[in-house]
Amino acid sequence: MDNESFLQSVDMNFDRAAGLLGLSDDLAEKIKTANATYIVRFGVRLRGGLQTFTGYRTVHSEHFEPVKGGIRYGPFADQNEVEALAALMTYKCALTEIPFGGAKGALVIDPRKWEIPELEQITRRFTQELAKRGLISPSQNVPAPDMGTGEREMAWMADEYRRLNPTELNAWACVTGKPLGKGGIAGRIEATGRGVQYTLQEFFRHSRDVKKTGLSAGLGGKRVIVQGLGNVGYHATLFLSQDDGCCITHVLERDGAIVDPKGINIAALYEHMIETGSIKGYPGFIDSGPELLEAEADILIPAAMEGVINETNASRIRAPLIIEAANGPVTAAGDAILRNSGVVIIPDFCANAGGVTVSYFEWIKNLTHIRFGRMQRRQQEKQFERLIAGVESMTGKTFPEDDRNTVMSGATEINLVRSGLEDTMRGAYHAISMTWNDKDNVPDLRTAAMMIAVERIAHSYISIGS
Ligand code: NAD
Repeated sequence: MDNESFLQSVDMNFDRAAGLLGLSDDLAEKIKTANATYIVRFGVRLRGGLQTFTGYRTVHSEHFEPVKGGIRYGPFADQNEVEALAALMTYKCALTEIPFGGAKGALVIDPRKWEIPELEQITRRFTQELAKRGLISPSQNVPAPDMGTGEREMAWMADEYRRLNPTELNAWACVTGKPLGKGGIAGRIEATGRGVQYTLQEFFRHSRDVKKTGLSAGLGGKRVIVQGLGNVGYHATLFLSQDDGCCITHVLERDGAIVDPKGINIAALYEHMIETGSIKGYPGFIDSGPELLEAEADILIPAAMEGVINETNASRIRAPLIIEAANGPVTAAGDAILRNSGVVIIPDFCANAGGVTVSYFEWIKNLTHIRFGRMQRRQQEKQFERLIAGVESMTGKTFPEDDRNTVMSGATEINLVRSGLEDTMRGAYHAISMTWNDKDNVPDLRTAAMMIAVERIAHSYISIGS
Protein backbone atom coordinates (compact mmCIF):
# COMPACT_ATOMS: atom_id res chain seq x y z
CA MET A 1 0.00 0.00 0.00
CA ASP A 2 1.32 3.46 -0.76
CA ASN A 3 1.19 5.93 2.06
CA GLU A 4 -1.56 7.96 0.42
CA SER A 5 -3.90 4.99 0.60
CA PHE A 6 -2.85 4.38 4.24
CA LEU A 7 -4.24 7.82 5.08
CA GLN A 8 -7.29 7.13 2.91
CA SER A 9 -7.90 3.86 4.75
CA VAL A 10 -7.84 5.61 8.13
CA ASP A 11 -10.12 8.37 6.81
CA MET A 12 -12.58 5.89 5.27
CA ASN A 13 -12.97 4.17 8.61
CA PHE A 14 -13.45 7.56 10.23
CA ASP A 15 -16.14 8.52 7.66
CA ARG A 16 -18.05 5.27 8.25
CA ALA A 17 -18.06 5.85 12.03
CA ALA A 18 -18.94 9.56 11.70
CA GLY A 19 -21.84 8.61 9.40
CA LEU A 20 -23.19 6.07 11.89
CA LEU A 21 -22.88 8.64 14.69
CA GLY A 22 -24.71 11.25 12.59
CA LEU A 23 -21.86 13.74 13.07
CA SER A 24 -22.25 17.02 11.18
CA ASP A 25 -19.98 17.35 8.15
CA ASP A 26 -18.14 20.39 9.47
CA LEU A 27 -17.31 18.81 12.82
CA ALA A 28 -16.30 15.56 11.11
CA GLU A 29 -13.97 17.48 8.80
CA LYS A 30 -12.42 19.33 11.75
CA ILE A 31 -11.74 16.15 13.69
CA LYS A 32 -10.43 14.17 10.71
CA THR A 33 -7.98 16.68 9.30
CA ALA A 34 -4.48 17.02 10.72
CA ASN A 35 -3.98 20.40 12.39
CA ALA A 36 -0.41 20.84 11.18
CA THR A 37 2.46 19.01 9.57
CA TYR A 38 5.96 20.39 9.92
CA ILE A 39 8.72 19.35 7.58
CA VAL A 40 12.23 20.09 8.74
CA ARG A 41 15.35 19.75 6.63
CA PHE A 42 18.68 19.99 8.35
CA GLY A 43 22.31 19.32 7.58
CA VAL A 44 24.73 17.25 9.64
CA ARG A 45 28.46 17.21 8.88
CA LEU A 46 29.30 13.51 8.53
CA ARG A 47 31.66 11.32 6.54
CA GLY A 48 33.52 14.35 5.15
CA GLY A 49 30.45 16.15 3.79
CA LEU A 50 27.22 17.87 4.72
CA GLN A 51 24.37 15.33 4.77
CA THR A 52 20.83 16.66 4.51
CA PHE A 53 18.01 14.88 6.35
CA THR A 54 14.24 15.33 6.20
CA GLY A 55 12.07 14.97 9.27
CA TYR A 56 8.32 15.23 9.84
CA ARG A 57 6.15 15.95 12.84
CA THR A 58 2.39 15.99 12.44
CA VAL A 59 0.07 17.36 15.11
CA HIS A 60 -3.25 15.76 14.29
CA SER A 61 -5.44 16.97 17.13
CA GLU A 62 -4.90 19.28 20.09
CA HIS A 63 -8.24 18.64 21.78
CA PHE A 64 -5.96 17.50 24.61
CA GLU A 65 -2.38 18.59 25.17
CA PRO A 66 0.34 17.51 25.13
CA VAL A 67 0.00 15.72 21.84
CA LYS A 68 1.60 12.30 21.79
CA GLY A 69 3.04 9.98 19.21
CA GLY A 70 6.13 8.03 18.26
CA ILE A 71 8.97 9.01 15.98
CA ARG A 72 9.96 6.39 13.44
CA TYR A 73 13.17 6.12 11.50
CA GLY A 74 12.62 4.68 8.03
CA PRO A 75 13.87 5.22 4.50
CA PHE A 76 10.40 5.61 2.98
CA ALA A 77 8.62 7.80 5.53
CA ASP A 78 6.57 10.64 4.05
CA GLN A 79 3.90 13.16 4.94
CA ASN A 80 0.93 10.90 4.19
CA GLU A 81 2.28 8.09 6.32
CA VAL A 82 2.99 10.42 9.24
CA GLU A 83 -0.46 12.02 8.98
CA ALA A 84 -2.16 8.61 8.91
CA LEU A 85 -0.20 7.51 11.98
CA ALA A 86 -0.90 10.79 13.80
CA ALA A 87 -4.64 10.39 13.17
CA LEU A 88 -4.50 6.84 14.56
CA MET A 89 -2.82 8.25 17.69
CA THR A 90 -5.70 10.68 18.23
CA TYR A 91 -8.26 7.87 17.98
CA LYS A 92 -6.12 5.51 20.08
CA CYS A 93 -5.80 8.00 22.96
CA ALA A 94 -9.52 8.78 22.83
CA LEU A 95 -10.47 5.09 22.84
CA THR A 96 -8.25 4.32 25.82
CA GLU A 97 -9.19 7.52 27.70
CA ILE A 98 -5.66 8.88 27.69
CA PRO A 99 -5.74 12.68 27.89
CA PHE A 100 -3.44 13.36 24.93
CA GLY A 101 -3.98 14.65 21.42
CA GLY A 102 -2.51 12.69 18.53
CA ALA A 103 0.84 13.29 16.84
CA LYS A 104 3.48 11.35 14.96
CA GLY A 105 6.94 11.97 13.59
CA ALA A 106 9.44 10.43 11.24
CA LEU A 107 12.96 10.88 10.03
CA VAL A 108 13.77 9.70 6.52
CA ILE A 109 16.77 7.52 7.23
CA ASP A 110 17.82 3.88 7.10
CA PRO A 111 19.31 3.54 10.60
CA ARG A 112 21.16 0.37 9.62
CA LYS A 113 23.36 2.40 7.27
CA TRP A 114 24.76 4.65 10.01
CA GLU A 115 27.17 4.04 12.91
CA ILE A 116 25.87 4.62 16.44
CA PRO A 117 27.83 7.90 17.03
CA GLU A 118 26.51 9.18 13.69
CA LEU A 119 22.94 8.27 14.63
CA GLU A 120 23.41 10.10 17.91
CA GLN A 121 24.61 13.24 16.13
CA ILE A 122 21.68 13.09 13.67
CA THR A 123 19.13 12.48 16.46
CA ARG A 124 20.47 15.38 18.52
CA ARG A 125 20.26 17.73 15.50
CA PHE A 126 16.72 16.53 14.76
CA THR A 127 15.81 17.24 18.40
CA GLN A 128 17.15 20.79 18.09
CA GLU A 129 14.96 21.34 15.04
CA LEU A 130 11.91 19.98 16.88
CA ALA A 131 12.65 22.02 20.02
CA LYS A 132 12.99 25.28 18.07
CA ARG A 133 9.41 24.84 16.85
CA GLY A 134 7.79 23.62 20.06
CA LEU A 135 7.52 20.11 18.62
CA ILE A 136 9.11 18.51 21.65
CA SER A 137 8.06 19.70 25.09
CA PRO A 138 6.58 18.12 28.24
CA SER A 139 3.49 20.32 28.05
CA GLN A 140 2.88 20.42 24.31
CA ASN A 141 4.38 17.60 22.28
CA VAL A 142 5.83 14.37 23.64
CA PRO A 143 7.46 11.91 21.20
CA ALA A 144 8.07 8.20 21.89
CA PRO A 145 9.76 5.27 20.11
CA ASP A 146 8.33 3.60 17.04
CA MET A 147 9.72 1.53 14.18
CA GLY A 148 13.49 1.96 13.96
CA THR A 149 13.78 3.86 17.25
CA GLY A 150 13.96 2.74 20.87
CA GLU A 151 15.23 3.65 24.32
CA ARG A 152 18.59 4.78 23.01
CA GLU A 153 17.15 7.42 20.66
CA MET A 154 14.73 8.60 23.35
CA ALA A 155 17.63 9.01 25.81
CA TRP A 156 19.52 11.14 23.25
CA MET A 157 16.44 13.26 22.62
CA ALA A 158 15.73 13.79 26.32
CA ASP A 159 19.36 14.66 26.98
CA GLU A 160 19.45 17.17 24.12
CA TYR A 161 16.20 18.75 25.26
CA ARG A 162 17.58 19.08 28.81
CA ARG A 163 20.70 20.78 27.48
CA LEU A 164 18.55 23.27 25.58
CA ASN A 165 16.30 23.82 28.63
CA PRO A 166 18.57 23.46 31.68
CA THR A 167 16.15 25.09 34.13
CA GLU A 168 13.05 23.18 33.00
CA LEU A 169 11.97 21.16 36.04
CA ASN A 170 9.97 18.63 34.01
CA ALA A 171 12.43 18.25 31.16
CA TRP A 172 12.52 14.43 31.40
CA ALA A 173 8.84 14.38 30.46
CA CYS A 174 9.66 15.71 26.97
CA VAL A 175 9.78 12.15 25.55
CA THR A 176 8.70 8.73 26.77
CA GLY A 177 10.17 5.29 26.19
CA LYS A 178 13.43 6.31 27.89
CA PRO A 179 15.73 3.84 29.66
CA LEU A 180 14.91 3.21 33.31
CA GLY A 181 18.02 5.05 34.51
CA LYS A 182 17.15 8.09 32.38
CA GLY A 183 13.64 8.87 33.56
CA GLY A 184 11.98 5.78 32.07
CA ILE A 185 9.43 3.47 33.64
CA ALA A 186 9.46 -0.26 34.32
CA GLY A 187 7.54 -2.17 31.66
CA ARG A 188 7.64 0.39 28.82
CA ILE A 189 9.68 -1.76 26.42
CA GLU A 190 7.32 -4.72 26.71
CA ALA A 191 4.19 -2.53 26.88
CA THR A 192 2.83 -2.77 23.35
CA GLY A 193 3.35 -6.53 23.11
CA ARG A 194 1.99 -7.02 26.62
CA GLY A 195 -1.03 -4.95 25.60
CA VAL A 196 -1.61 -7.24 22.61
CA GLN A 197 -1.58 -10.20 25.02
CA TYR A 198 -4.05 -8.53 27.42
CA THR A 199 -6.34 -7.66 24.50
CA LEU A 200 -6.38 -11.25 23.24
CA GLN A 201 -7.04 -12.53 26.76
CA GLU A 202 -9.99 -10.15 26.98
CA PHE A 203 -11.24 -11.20 23.54
CA PHE A 204 -11.40 -14.81 24.76
CA ARG A 205 -13.48 -13.67 27.76
CA HIS A 206 -16.17 -12.51 25.28
CA SER A 207 -17.78 -15.74 24.17
CA ARG A 208 -20.08 -13.99 21.65
CA ASP A 209 -17.01 -12.67 19.83
CA VAL A 210 -15.13 -15.95 20.01
CA LYS A 211 -18.16 -17.71 18.54
CA LYS A 212 -18.02 -15.47 15.47
CA THR A 213 -14.52 -16.76 14.69
CA GLY A 214 -15.50 -20.42 15.06
CA LEU A 215 -12.54 -20.88 17.42
CA SER A 216 -12.76 -22.95 20.60
CA ALA A 217 -12.71 -21.19 23.97
CA GLY A 218 -9.45 -20.05 25.54
CA LEU A 219 -6.05 -19.03 24.21
CA GLY A 220 -4.33 -22.30 25.16
CA GLY A 221 -3.07 -24.24 22.13
CA LYS A 222 -4.05 -21.60 19.58
CA ARG A 223 -1.78 -21.59 16.51
CA VAL A 224 -0.30 -18.16 15.85
CA ILE A 225 1.43 -16.55 12.87
CA VAL A 226 3.40 -13.36 13.57
CA GLN A 227 4.89 -11.01 11.00
CA GLY A 228 7.79 -8.98 12.42
CA LEU A 229 9.81 -10.06 15.44
CA GLY A 230 10.72 -6.54 16.54
CA ASN A 231 9.75 -4.89 19.79
CA VAL A 232 6.01 -5.50 19.45
CA GLY A 233 5.99 -8.89 17.71
CA TYR A 234 8.64 -10.35 20.00
CA HIS A 235 7.00 -9.37 23.28
CA ALA A 236 3.49 -10.32 22.12
CA THR A 237 4.51 -13.81 21.01
CA LEU A 238 6.86 -14.35 23.95
CA PHE A 239 4.08 -13.68 26.46
CA LEU A 240 1.40 -15.52 24.48
CA SER A 241 3.56 -18.64 24.27
CA GLN A 242 4.97 -18.50 27.82
CA ASP A 243 1.89 -17.39 29.77
CA ASP A 244 -1.10 -18.47 27.66
CA GLY A 245 0.06 -21.69 26.00
CA CYS A 246 -0.20 -20.38 22.43
CA CYS A 247 1.76 -22.25 19.78
CA ILE A 248 3.72 -19.83 17.56
CA THR A 249 3.96 -21.77 14.31
CA HIS A 250 5.25 -19.07 11.90
CA VAL A 251 7.54 -16.08 12.36
CA LEU A 252 7.80 -13.98 9.21
CA GLU A 253 10.71 -11.57 9.01
CA ARG A 254 12.14 -9.38 6.26
CA ASP A 255 14.78 -11.99 5.32
CA GLY A 256 12.61 -15.14 5.41
CA ALA A 257 10.53 -17.13 7.86
CA ILE A 258 10.78 -19.72 10.62
CA VAL A 259 8.16 -22.45 10.53
CA ASP A 260 7.58 -25.08 13.19
CA PRO A 261 4.13 -26.65 13.61
CA LYS A 262 5.14 -27.81 17.12
CA GLY A 263 5.81 -24.24 18.26
CA ILE A 264 8.81 -21.92 17.95
CA ASN A 265 10.88 -21.04 20.99
CA ILE A 266 10.54 -17.27 20.70
CA ALA A 267 13.16 -16.38 23.31
CA ALA A 268 15.78 -18.57 21.60
CA LEU A 269 14.93 -17.26 18.13
CA TYR A 270 15.11 -13.65 19.31
CA GLU A 271 18.50 -14.30 20.91
CA HIS A 272 19.69 -15.76 17.60
CA MET A 273 18.38 -12.65 15.79
CA ILE A 274 20.17 -10.28 18.15
CA GLU A 275 23.43 -12.24 17.89
CA THR A 276 23.47 -12.69 14.10
CA GLY A 277 21.26 -9.81 12.91
CA SER A 278 18.99 -12.24 11.04
CA ILE A 279 16.68 -15.21 11.49
CA LYS A 280 18.73 -17.12 8.90
CA GLY A 281 20.48 -20.17 10.31
CA TYR A 282 17.81 -20.82 12.96
CA PRO A 283 16.12 -24.28 12.80
CA GLY A 284 13.00 -24.17 10.63
CA PHE A 285 14.26 -21.33 8.42
CA ILE A 286 12.72 -21.12 4.97
CA ASP A 287 13.36 -18.57 2.27
CA SER A 288 9.80 -17.29 2.05
CA GLY A 289 7.94 -13.99 1.90
CA PRO A 290 4.58 -12.55 2.94
CA GLU A 291 2.67 -15.43 1.28
CA LEU A 292 2.99 -17.19 4.64
CA LEU A 293 0.46 -14.72 6.04
CA GLU A 294 -1.99 -17.01 4.23
CA ALA A 295 -0.92 -20.17 6.08
CA GLU A 296 -3.40 -22.02 8.24
CA ALA A 297 -3.60 -20.62 11.78
CA ASP A 298 -6.03 -19.56 14.49
CA ILE A 299 -4.62 -16.09 15.09
CA LEU A 300 -2.68 -13.84 12.72
CA ILE A 301 -0.58 -11.06 14.24
CA PRO A 302 0.81 -8.58 11.72
CA ALA A 303 3.43 -6.73 13.79
CA ALA A 304 5.73 -5.22 11.19
CA MET A 305 4.34 -2.57 8.91
CA GLU A 306 1.30 -1.12 7.13
CA GLY A 307 -0.59 -2.42 4.13
CA VAL A 308 0.54 -6.06 4.19
CA ILE A 309 -2.99 -7.44 3.98
CA ASN A 310 -4.74 -5.87 1.02
CA GLU A 311 -6.97 -6.60 -1.98
CA THR A 312 -4.33 -8.91 -3.48
CA ASN A 313 -4.12 -11.40 -0.60
CA ALA A 314 -7.07 -10.77 1.77
CA SER A 315 -9.29 -13.45 0.21
CA ARG A 316 -6.59 -16.08 0.86
CA ILE A 317 -6.13 -15.33 4.58
CA ARG A 318 -7.14 -18.43 6.51
CA ALA A 319 -6.84 -17.29 10.14
CA PRO A 320 -10.33 -16.42 11.47
CA LEU A 321 -8.91 -13.85 13.92
CA ILE A 322 -6.46 -11.03 13.15
CA ILE A 323 -5.06 -8.75 15.82
CA GLU A 324 -3.37 -5.68 14.35
CA ALA A 325 -0.24 -5.23 16.44
CA ALA A 326 1.28 -3.00 13.73
CA ASN A 327 -0.33 0.25 12.66
CA GLY A 328 -2.42 -0.02 9.51
CA PRO A 329 -1.48 -3.57 8.42
CA VAL A 330 -4.86 -4.11 6.71
CA THR A 331 -5.91 -1.72 3.94
CA ALA A 332 -9.51 -0.53 3.56
CA ALA A 333 -9.94 -2.83 0.53
CA GLY A 334 -8.46 -5.78 2.42
CA ASP A 335 -10.68 -4.96 5.38
CA ALA A 336 -13.84 -5.11 3.26
CA ILE A 337 -12.90 -8.53 1.83
CA LEU A 338 -12.10 -9.94 5.27
CA ARG A 339 -15.30 -8.55 6.77
CA ASN A 340 -17.35 -10.23 4.04
CA SER A 341 -15.63 -13.54 4.67
CA GLY A 342 -16.31 -13.31 8.42
CA VAL A 343 -12.76 -12.77 9.66
CA VAL A 344 -12.72 -10.88 12.95
CA ILE A 345 -10.15 -8.07 13.19
CA ILE A 346 -9.13 -6.39 16.43
CA PRO A 347 -8.08 -2.98 15.09
CA ASP A 348 -4.67 -1.38 15.54
CA PHE A 349 -5.75 1.63 17.57
CA CYS A 350 -7.19 -0.72 20.19
CA ALA A 351 -4.73 -3.63 19.96
CA ASN A 352 -1.45 -1.72 20.06
CA ALA A 353 -2.47 1.00 22.52
CA GLY A 354 -0.28 -0.54 25.24
CA GLY A 355 2.70 1.57 24.20
CA VAL A 356 0.99 4.92 24.60
CA THR A 357 -0.71 3.73 27.78
CA VAL A 358 2.58 3.04 29.53
CA SER A 359 4.04 6.20 27.95
CA TYR A 360 1.25 8.05 29.70
CA PHE A 361 2.29 6.45 33.01
CA GLU A 362 5.93 7.39 32.32
CA TRP A 363 4.96 11.00 31.63
CA ILE A 364 3.02 11.12 34.92
CA LYS A 365 6.02 9.62 36.73
CA ASN A 366 8.29 12.30 35.25
CA LEU A 367 5.91 15.10 36.27
CA THR A 368 5.47 13.77 39.81
CA HIS A 369 9.17 12.94 40.18
CA ILE A 370 8.40 9.78 42.13
CA ARG A 371 8.51 6.10 41.26
CA PHE A 372 5.14 4.33 41.29
CA GLY A 373 4.73 2.27 44.47
CA ARG A 374 7.40 4.10 46.44
CA MET A 375 4.99 5.44 49.06
CA GLN A 376 2.69 2.47 49.57
CA ARG A 377 4.67 -0.72 48.91
CA ARG A 378 6.05 -1.39 52.41
CA GLN A 379 2.86 -0.23 54.09
CA GLN A 380 0.93 -2.76 51.98
CA GLU A 381 3.40 -5.49 52.94
CA LYS A 382 2.88 -4.77 56.63
CA GLN A 383 -0.90 -4.89 56.23
CA PHE A 384 -0.73 -8.25 54.42
CA GLU A 385 1.67 -9.57 57.05
CA ARG A 386 -0.79 -8.67 59.80
CA LEU A 387 -3.65 -10.24 57.86
CA ILE A 388 -1.75 -13.51 57.39
CA ALA A 389 -0.76 -13.57 61.07
CA GLY A 390 -4.47 -13.09 61.94
CA VAL A 391 -5.58 -15.91 59.62
CA GLU A 392 -2.89 -18.22 61.05
CA SER A 393 -3.83 -17.52 64.66
CA MET A 394 -7.57 -17.96 63.92
CA THR A 395 -7.14 -21.22 62.00
CA GLY A 396 -4.13 -22.60 63.87
CA LYS A 397 -2.59 -23.40 60.48
CA THR A 398 0.55 -22.05 58.82
CA PHE A 399 0.24 -20.24 55.49
CA PRO A 400 2.08 -22.11 52.69
CA GLU A 401 5.51 -20.46 52.20
CA ASP A 402 5.17 -19.78 48.44
CA ASP A 403 1.71 -18.23 48.79
CA ARG A 404 2.87 -16.19 51.77
CA ASN A 405 5.56 -14.49 49.68
CA THR A 406 3.16 -13.73 46.83
CA VAL A 407 0.38 -12.47 49.06
CA MET A 408 2.69 -10.41 51.24
CA SER A 409 4.58 -8.46 48.63
CA GLY A 410 3.41 -4.88 48.15
CA ALA A 411 3.00 -3.46 44.67
CA THR A 412 6.21 -2.56 42.82
CA GLU A 413 6.34 -0.19 39.86
CA ILE A 414 6.16 -3.05 37.34
CA ASN A 415 3.14 -4.55 39.14
CA LEU A 416 1.33 -1.23 39.05
CA VAL A 417 2.24 -0.53 35.42
CA ARG A 418 0.99 -3.95 34.32
CA SER A 419 -2.17 -3.52 36.38
CA GLY A 420 -2.89 -0.12 34.81
CA LEU A 421 -2.09 -1.47 31.36
CA GLU A 422 -4.31 -4.52 31.78
CA ASP A 423 -7.16 -2.37 33.05
CA THR A 424 -6.82 -0.05 30.05
CA MET A 425 -6.64 -2.80 27.42
CA ARG A 426 -9.48 -4.81 28.93
CA GLY A 427 -11.63 -1.71 29.28
CA ALA A 428 -11.02 -0.66 25.66
CA TYR A 429 -11.74 -4.12 24.24
CA HIS A 430 -14.85 -4.56 26.38
CA ALA A 431 -16.19 -1.19 25.19
CA ILE A 432 -15.71 -1.94 21.50
CA SER A 433 -17.18 -5.41 21.87
CA MET A 434 -20.30 -3.96 23.52
CA THR A 435 -20.74 -1.39 20.75
CA TRP A 436 -20.22 -4.03 18.05
CA ASN A 437 -22.69 -6.47 19.56
CA ASP A 438 -25.32 -4.23 21.04
CA LYS A 439 -25.76 -1.44 18.50
CA ASP A 440 -27.46 -1.85 15.14
CA ASN A 441 -25.53 -1.36 11.91
CA VAL A 442 -22.04 -1.60 13.45
CA PRO A 443 -20.33 -3.95 11.02
CA ASP A 444 -17.13 -4.74 12.88
CA LEU A 445 -14.82 -3.99 15.80
CA ARG A 446 -12.90 -1.36 13.82
CA THR A 447 -16.01 0.72 13.23
CA ALA A 448 -17.09 0.21 16.84
CA ALA A 449 -13.72 1.43 18.12
CA MET A 450 -13.80 4.44 15.82
CA MET A 451 -17.32 5.34 16.88
CA ILE A 452 -16.31 5.41 20.56
CA ALA A 453 -13.19 7.46 19.84
CA VAL A 454 -14.88 9.96 17.54
CA GLU A 455 -17.81 10.47 19.88
CA ARG A 456 -15.45 11.34 22.74
CA ILE A 457 -13.45 13.77 20.61
CA ALA A 458 -16.63 15.36 19.26
CA HIS A 459 -17.88 15.91 22.83
CA SER A 460 -14.66 17.70 23.73
CA TYR A 461 -15.15 20.07 20.76
CA ILE A 462 -18.81 20.64 21.51
CA SER A 463 -18.12 21.36 25.19
CA ILE A 464 -15.57 24.09 24.40
CA GLY A 465 -17.73 25.48 21.62
CA SER A 466 -15.05 25.66 18.92
P1 NAD B 1 10.65 -2.70 15.22
O1 NAD B 1 11.47 -1.87 14.31
O2 NAD B 1 11.14 -2.99 16.60
O3 NAD B 1 10.28 -4.11 14.58
C1 NAD B 1 9.76 -4.28 13.29
C2 NAD B 1 10.13 -5.69 12.86
O4 NAD B 1 9.49 -5.98 11.63
C3 NAD B 1 11.64 -5.87 12.63
O5 NAD B 1 12.06 -7.06 13.25
C4 NAD B 1 11.76 -5.93 11.12
O6 NAD B 1 12.86 -6.71 10.69
C5 NAD B 1 10.44 -6.57 10.74
N1 NAD B 1 10.04 -6.27 9.37
C6 NAD B 1 10.18 -5.13 8.68
N2 NAD B 1 9.70 -5.26 7.44
C7 NAD B 1 9.23 -6.51 7.34
C8 NAD B 1 8.60 -7.26 6.31
N3 NAD B 1 8.38 -6.72 5.13
N4 NAD B 1 8.23 -8.53 6.57
C9 NAD B 1 8.45 -9.10 7.78
N5 NAD B 1 9.05 -8.43 8.80
C10 NAD B 1 9.44 -7.16 8.57
O7 NAD B 1 9.23 -1.94 15.26
P2 NAD B 1 8.11 -2.05 16.36
O8 NAD B 1 8.33 -0.97 17.34
O9 NAD B 1 7.97 -3.46 16.82
O10 NAD B 1 6.84 -1.62 15.50
C11 NAD B 1 6.16 -2.53 14.66
C12 NAD B 1 4.79 -1.97 14.34
O11 NAD B 1 4.08 -1.72 15.56
C13 NAD B 1 4.78 -0.65 13.57
O12 NAD B 1 3.66 -0.60 12.73
C14 NAD B 1 4.61 0.38 14.69
O13 NAD B 1 4.07 1.60 14.23
C15 NAD B 1 3.66 -0.37 15.60
N6 NAD B 1 3.66 0.10 16.99
C16 NAD B 1 4.77 0.12 17.75
C17 NAD B 1 4.71 0.55 19.06
C18 NAD B 1 5.90 0.51 19.98
O14 NAD B 1 5.73 0.77 21.19
N7 NAD B 1 7.10 0.20 19.52
C19 NAD B 1 3.49 1.01 19.59
C20 NAD B 1 2.36 0.97 18.79
C21 NAD B 1 2.44 0.51 17.48
